[in-house]
Amino acid sequence: MAVSPVTKEDTCTVCGTCASVCPTAAISINGSVATKIELCICCCACIKNCPTGARVWEDSMMKNIAKWLNENCSTRKEPQIFGIDV
Ligand code: SF4
Ligand code: SF4
Repeated sequence: MAVSPVTKEDTCTVCGTCASVCPTAAISINGSVATKIELCICCCACIKNCPTGARVWEDSMMKNIAKWLNENCSTRKEPQIFGIDV
């Protein structure tokens, strides 16, 4: 997918944490944060590690996926065994 998180300039402190945790070196810092979308694997490490919450998804499909996961997978589910009565 040709998508990546974006940086909210108003809350970014240009600390460089996102670039240091990105596993594919998709993020570079040079006075501001730049992201090479083609290198992004959508791992969300930059989002999770940004100390100011400045890395976010704006892509509507990714926001819908995140909403679905939060609604359906945010609590632990115990294993269940399904069988056929004979
Ligand atoms: S980790 Fe957050 S605050 Fe730091 S440079 Fe990246 S986007 Fe900006
Ligand atoms: S989502 Fe992952 S791969 Fe994409 S820019 Fe952020 S840390 Fe890098």
